Amino acid sequence: MRLQNVISNRRPEFAQIGKYQALRVSHQGRLANVDPNTVDIIIVEDESTLKAILKNDVLYLKPLFYIGDTRKECDGTFNVDAPHQIVSKVDVLTKAIEEYADLDLPSDPSDRLLTKVLRYLISRKKVLKPINTRLSSIGYSFPVIEDMSIESNPLHIIKHLNAFSSQDYFSRQPIDKINICYDCNSSYLNFSECCTKCNSLDLKTEELVHHFRCAYVGPQSDFMKDEKLICPKCDHQLKHIGIDYDKPSEIHTCKSCNHSSQETKMKAKCVDCCKENELEQLVTYDIHEYRPTEKAVAKSLESTKAQSFGIQSEEEHDLLTNYGAFNMIKSHEAKRQSIANTSTFEMIMSVEDKILNGLNEGMQMAMLQELASIIKPYLKHNDLIALDRDRNINVLLIDYTSQENEVIQDTLHYNLNKMLMDNGWSNHEIISITSRSIKE
Ligand SMILES: [Zn+2]
Ligand SMILES: [Zn+2]
Ligand SMILES: [Zn+2]
Repeated sequence: MRLQNVISNRRPEFAQIGKYQALRVSHQGRLANVDPNTVDIIIVEDESTLKAILKNDVLYLKPLFYIGDTRKECDGTFNVDAPHQIVSKVDVLTKAIEEYADLDLPSDPSDRLLTKVLRYLISRKKVLKPINTRLSSIGYSFPVIEDMSIESNPLHIIKHLNAFSSQDYFSRQPIDKINICYDCNSSYLNFSECCTKCNSLDLKTEELVHHFRCAYVGPQSDFMKDEKLICPKCDHQLKHIGIDYDKPSEIHTCKSCNHSSQETKMKAKCVDCCKENELEQLVTYDIHEYRPTEKAVAKSLESTKAQSFGIQSEEEHDLLTNYGAFNMIKSHEAKRQSIANTSTFEMIMSVEDKILNGLNEGMQMAMLQELASIIKPYLKHNDLIALDRDRNINVLLIDYTSQENEVIQDTLHYNLNKMLMDNGWSNHEIISITSRSIKE
């Protein structure tokens, strides 16, 4: 549920490191309000913030350091006791990302992803290397591109990367092969031998022994007498492998159906969905590492002259409707209501003045925007949210029944207040919600 993505009241901390302005973000909730022009370095301490920064279309190229173990998708570890250790690295990175400072991003999602990944890799002189992880269903994850993409399925990521490679943006080098389950695409497979006749796993496997002298061949158990190997055909003792006898292969006897054979069948049971795959059913994928090409360098420097999204991401851009436009649509809806048999409600949500007045203007905006982003998933697709001059969140609930209107009002009132109290903003309810039909 989105409510877990809650507001933290910890503000980002700024610090001066050499000539650089460093921003330490302890919670991604604050990112919406960061002005990229005032930040030279970003320091994070949790993985979700790191991912949020790589996803962010304005901040993704900033020198990014992690407090704790170094992760592949950042520029290094930040040592709180020796902050200046990073300065020389930041010098290099700052120079490298300057190239992209005035370039916008394409609006086509796939082109945009490619451009971001290329700018990141090229500015870091990095190759995109998959890493082994049990957290991925295919046993590999693709750092950076996975964080920048909205795609969470690693096979789709591979598809994107291979498409980019066939357009000559990457040269790729195979590093592994994976086999995945026919039903669920997982690579957690357990291979075992079974009977070729009845599929049972209950096999007794023995070595075959071949006596040179008399040419008798049989399972080793035929030869065992008092811990010695005695040939059942000619009664001679077999002493030296390679001189008296050899072991040409194995023989498998099924304890379920008694079938004996030198062959077995291999099956691959999926740990995730329990499907018993025949080997022919497994799908094989090559895992590559991807190195940006000359063409990629040119691509990364292309300016698209497309829509620039400014500081807000696309999602945030769509979140709020301009208050003037909101009012126009509201009066249009009011007129429509008197003709059609529909009802539209205006919900007004206010945060207690005492709380808002304790924040500076930027923080007030950030808080209201964050609340709006939490409300959004509760609404229907074409409902509108706007902020008015009195710092209220206005929501237009289009075509709701009175009951639906009441339910959403109660739900939001309860959930938002609980969330803010749980996060230590206050010990009492600080959000009030009123709602009215907009019928003229
Ligand atoms: Zn069998
Ligand atoms: Zn013999
Ligand atoms: Zn499976």
